[in-house]
Amino acid sequence: MSRDTAINDSPVHRRRVDVAIVGGGMAGASLALMLAHHCPELRVALLEQKPLPAGGEQPVLPSFDTRATALAAGSLQIFEQLGLWSELSGYCAPIREIHVSDRGCGLGARLSALRETRAQFRGIFGAVVENAALGPVLYRALAETRVEVLAPAEVQRVTFDDSGADMKWCDGAGRAQHLKTALLVAADGVDSVMCRQLGIEAERVDYRQRALVATVGLQRAHGGVAYERFTDSGPMALLPLPDREGVHRAALVWTCDEEAADALCALESDAFVARVQKAFGWRAGRLVRAGAVASYRLSLSLAREQWRRNLVLVGNCAHFLHPVAGQGFNLTLRDCDALAQVLSGRGSDLLAQNSRAALDLLESYGRGRQRDQQLTIGFSDRVPALFASDNPLLRSSRQLGLLAMNVVPPLRASFLSQAAGFGL
Ligand SMILES: Cc1cc2nc3c(=O)[nH]c(=O)nc-3n(C[C@H](O)[C@H](O)[C@H](O)COP(=O)(O)OP(=O)(O)OC[C@H]3O[C@@H](n4cnc5c(N)ncnc54)[C@H](O)[C@@H]3O)c2cc1C
Repeated sequence: MSRDTAINDSPVHRRRVDVAIVGGGMAGASLALMLAHHCPELRVALLEQKPLPAGGEQPVLPSFDTRATALAAGSLQIFEQLGLWSELSGYCAPIREIHVSDRGCGLGARLSALRETRAQFRGIFGAVVENAALGPVLYRALAETRVEVLAPAEVQRVTFDDSGADMKWCDGAGRAQHLKTALLVAADGVDSVMCRQLGIEAERVDYRQRALVATVGLQRAHGGVAYERFTDSGPMALLPLPDREGVHRAALVWTCDEEAADALCALESDAFVARVQKAFGWRAGRLVRAGAVASYRLSLSLAREQWRRNLVLVGNCAHFLHPVAGQGFNLTLRDCDALAQVLSGRGSDLLAQNSRAALDLLESYGRGRQRDQQLTIGFSDRVPALFASDNPLLRSSRQLGLLAMNVVPPLRASFLSQAAGFGL
């Protein structure tokens, strides 16, 4: 993943690219790969404010921390198109079954990829990868493309004129640099500096909850089962991970209110595992140990504009979702794939100064993504609310929902098509 900062010695004000992506996290790095694949004629630069670590060192970018990501079948298909699945699969645990259950009533739905053939990729619902493994896979693939990776490169100011955006950025030695681009893609995260500078506001809902994330050891193999369990202390996901050094492992995501999160984070490892076991139950067998616990504040954030002339927003900067349904990155991959497909073969339209055609391209991207985004954001927002409530009416309707999912195929299919990320 090591990459030297690619600062050209030529007078910086003359440097120009076709697409500049600000932010080299999961969203920015994935989009850069898609553009390299679908639009090889475009000159693309990826600017990341943090240094990229040398091989073997822990990644320092926020995206590639200790979390794990459940990649839906649709996302695996996208990675396969990019030629990445053969390498990525070596770091993934396949999801063969999904168990959704409500601890309060003992009801549950059990979905098997063998039966639900519509929502799968090569016989699996999806796969789980540790973010710290995903980062190096993306950056190794980027090193094989013409994408210019600039890091550390902190973009500090952006101005627009008829020919695109003019960015002032700061290199690792503190020197000011400039780069011009026809299209600027902001992928700089939920607290986006780009959005602040451009006056793009976001609608925000603070869930007043946190997601606690930890890797737990399992006494028995998980068998490719992903659990989504709704408990009195909040929804818990236990996702299969590849074994490491003979230890069976799973990724825990436990959503709880802020007070409970503080208390749980303060526990020693054994006490934490005991609390998880008590809340989750024994469906996955005995939980044996836990790695460090990381905590994330949860909110829904949706940018009021996702595109303008010469500008597109992707990733957390465009939408930040509740992680319980594991949809954020999957949705972002579909956005990025759609953007790269829209731009494919249309480089001259994109580069024509002040043209209507360039604006039409971005407009067709934005319009094309509306429905999938609305459905996915609604799904991610409703699921935790429904299961968090003690309201007896909601409680019985979710129990009914779980029961119905077992017996009514169309209901199961609609849940799965959303969860599988085909944007159906
Ligand atoms: C607990 C949790 C679990 C999740 N699990 C799942 C899951 O299972 N499945 C799923 O699909 N999604 C999941 N998600 C969502 C997923 O993590 C996000 O979609 C993903 O992190 C989006 O990354 P990003 O690149 O948009 O943002 P970030 O990771 O925030 O990256 C932004 C990058 O921009 C850089 N940057 C910022 N400012 C500048 C600047 N001025 N100049 C240059 N660079 C800059 C930053 O250094 C950073 O590297 C989960 C999220 C959470 C919180």
